[in-house]
Amino acid sequence: MSPARTVTVAGGGLAGLTVARELRSRGFDGTVRIVDPEGLPYDRPPLSKAYLAGTTDRAALHLAPPDWFTDNDIRIVEDSVTKLDTGRGSVLLASGSELISDAVVLATGGQARRLPVPGSDHPGVLKLRTRADADQLRDKLFPGCRLVVVGAGLIAAEVASTATGLGAHVTLIDPMPVPLVPAVGEELARVLHEMHSAHGVEVLTGKPTRIAAEGKSLLVEVEHSHGADRLAADLVLVAIGIEPDTSLADAAGLRGDAGIEVTATGLTSNPGIWAAGDGIRIRTADGRLLPRSEHWEAAILSGTAVACGLLGEQAPQRPPAWFWSDRYGVHVEAVGSMTTPGSTVLRNAGTDRPIAFRVDTDGVLVGCAAIDGGKVLRAAKRLIMRRARVGLDDLVDPAVDLRKVDR
Ligand SMILES: Cc1cc2nc3c(=O)[nH]c(=O)nc-3n(C[C@H](O)[C@H](O)[C@H](O)COP(=O)(O)OP(=O)(O)OC[C@H]3O[C@@H](n4cnc5c(N)ncnc54)[C@H](O)[C@@H]3O)c2cc1C
Repeated sequence: MSPARTVTVAGGGLAGLTVARELRSRGFDGTVRIVDPEGLPYDRPPLSKAYLAGTTDRAALHLAPPDWFTDNDIRIVEDSVTKLDTGRGSVLLASGSELISDAVVLATGGQARRLPVPGSDHPGVLKLRTRADADQLRDKLFPGCRLVVVGAGLIAAEVASTATGLGAHVTLIDPMPVPLVPAVGEELARVLHEMHSAHGVEVLTGKPTRIAAEGKSLLVEVEHSHGADRLAADLVLVAIGIEPDTSLADAAGLRGDAGIEVTATGLTSNPGIWAAGDGIRIRTADGRLLPRSEHWEAAILSGTAVACGLLGEQAPQRPPAWFWSDRYGVHVEAVGSMTTPGSTVLRNAGTDRPIAFRVDTDGVLVGCAAIDGGKVLRAAKRLIMRRARVGLDDLVDPAVDLRKVDR
């Protein structure tokens, strides 16, 4: 197969931008276009943090300055892809235009999952995925307002923290008594969840069953193990994860299962279509279909892998999955897996800055999660990549520098 000369990327988020950036930095001199109705690529993590708090502005969200696109001859097409015509090798746009391409990259990310209860379509019920969503939420937050956040995952917790900082009265509802256990392990999840109450957030374990308007307020009906509650709110944020945007892939008949299936270099089941970002699932060489990784670094890694694939290069070795999150002034990071069968040991146990290590049944370090423990986490990441066996005493002892441990 001859290498592509014209690449069209559907979706200009972090993954789509990375494809374009990596193509150019690896010497590709063909045509590169990014199609996105939102125009210039911007970064999403600040949307629940500094941008929502109002401490960073719109321009600071840009993933690359506007000149960069001109300098690198990357065309931004402000439009939506509505269909892939695999027969003609073209991409159809909402405006009616057609872009003929040798290769198409799907980097359309995902959409905030909707709450499947009556009343969730009320205009006071918001979501947070785009810059416009963040603007809308920010406009409605004021000191003393009553915000109900549905969900207590990473983004929900960040919004609870930011909104509390802006003076809102926040209630957080989640069916799990301790959310995020798969992401950071039981011990850290508990410490993190307790931070909400410590910062004045009301925490409810339960499920919303209905949202209704009552005058200028909203009433959120919640079912829990002791019965039911009705919470009055000025606004509700639903933050219960995303649904991958697989509509273009599905219509083109690409293989997938709750995510577009790709190889290590991002190739889908069609030899002219590649995919990267939050919406993909990688099929490993040994046949496993990995879960989606809906994190910032994963979008960069998969975008890089696609660029390599398009150029006939091998993708760099994929490091263990990593993400960060911020809440109430602390920085949370996790790397690798905290769910692999085995055991968890804690460093700084009983403090508000614990570090959890996951060790598999063979004694190999497979995961680490930390609160304000970036240095240890980075050392752990290197050990995880080397599949190192580390003594449990060394992991637990804060005096042991993991950068110097290698057994
Ligand atoms: C509020 C928030 C906070 C976050 N915080 C963190 C964090 O602290 N740490 C972390 O690791 N990760 C965080 N993330 C996750 C991280 O931002 C995502 O994993 C990353 O943005 C995924 O990039 P993507 O390019 O796959 O998707 P997206 O960023 O969603 O980009 C997809 C793009 O595709 C476009 N698109 C969709 N359909 C079409 C179409 N038909 N035609 C053309 N374009 C289309 C969309 O407009 C969008 O711009 C956060 C995400 C959010 C929303």
